[in-house]
Amino acid sequence: MAQRDPYEVLGVSRSASADEIKSAYRRLARKYHPDVNQGDPASEEKFKEVSGAYEVLSDSEKRARFDQFGTTEGIPQDPFFGGAGGGGIGDLFDMFFGASGGQQGRRRTPAQDGDDLRLDLQISLLDVINGLSKEVEVNRASECGDCNGSGVEGGGQPTQCGGCNGSGVVSVVRNTFLGQVRTQTACPKCNGHGFTITNPCRKCSGQGVRPSTDKVLINIPQGVETGSTIHMPGHGSDGVRGGRPGDLYVVLHVLEDGPFVRRGQHVLTGIDITVSQAILGDEMVIDGIDKELNVEIPSGAQPGQKVTLKGEGLPPLHGGRRGDLVVELNVTIPKKVSEAEARLIREFAELRGEKVPDGKSSLFGGLFGKKK
Ligand SMILES: [Zn+2]
Ligand SMILES: [Zn+2]
Repeated sequence: MAQRDPYEVLGVSRSASADEIKSAYRRLARKYHPDVNQGDPASEEKFKEVSGAYEVLSDSEKRARFDQFGTTEGIPQDPFFGGAGGGGIGDLFDMFFGASGGQQGRRRTPAQDGDDLRLDLQISLLDVINGLSKEVEVNRASECGDCNGSGVEGGGQPTQCGGCNGSGVVSVVRNTFLGQVRTQTACPKCNGHGFTITNPCRKCSGQGVRPSTDKVLINIPQGVETGSTIHMPGHGSDGVRGGRPGDLYVVLHVLEDGPFVRRGQHVLTGIDITVSQAILGDEMVIDGIDKELNVEIPSGAQPGQKVTLKGEGLPPLHGGRRGDLVVELNVTIPKKVSEAEARLIREFAELRGEKVPDGKSSLFGGLFGKKK
């Protein structure tokens, strides 16, 4: 079943506060509650959907995951809410309403899926051009070799809990906002696991996994951007007792702290040129992103004028025709000139039929005053 947008289900905005989400949930839960809609399967479905949406949006981690990936599927369930395969909603339903609503006493499997992990990786613009295969170190929980992931010393299987007969939950009567209802709560004897380990593995303290740092080879395609995410299924933490391993999400950050500014596939940069280069034109060699490049400065170049170097920008995702490198010309005016240079500038103005500047503020106040 495809996951419906939980914001849509609860009728709240993406920026809704925790209180807004809670009150929307309460309103809809009352409306669709099975006690109010005896035997109406549509209402029961609706109620489950509302509960499922609330389960995502009331959990800041799951909410953030949904906001980022548009789904929470593949996220390991909270062990309290039970095992794999979308059991979470039914179990939440059970927890709130006990026998009055859902099915009861589902046998819990001791399997627990591994956590999804996120790794942030910085790469350069050169890596965007070439792509990159890089081995990274990932801190994850990996299966304990001593107990083969069972958590039981010397291997073997955990014992089913006698307090809850393996279901992980026990029934209690509780006062809730819906009145007095029989609810289920985590079995205190086994903390909701449904099983106990009497002789826990000494190496992993019965966890079945141990912290480890593992090397993972990441293949980054050409043309990625900041925020591009590489999904590596099964490279998250290992599951325990037959649970599935989580996934690794590598979130990329492209560094732009050099002279280059990225605009999609195009890249902007700037170079300083002299007044005489601007007037007469010139050819210069500059450092591009991946190689040296020739820049033709046209004669009569104006400050801020741009020269486009076709195909010297960045490739699209997974490679292809590169965008452009756009070079902005920054014409630098000399801050000081010698007497001889000033004479030539005046002559230059005269030749062009311009009014020859008297130069009072600069020539007599500044230029020659500081002459050494
Ligand atoms: Zn172990
Ligand atoms: Zn128990």
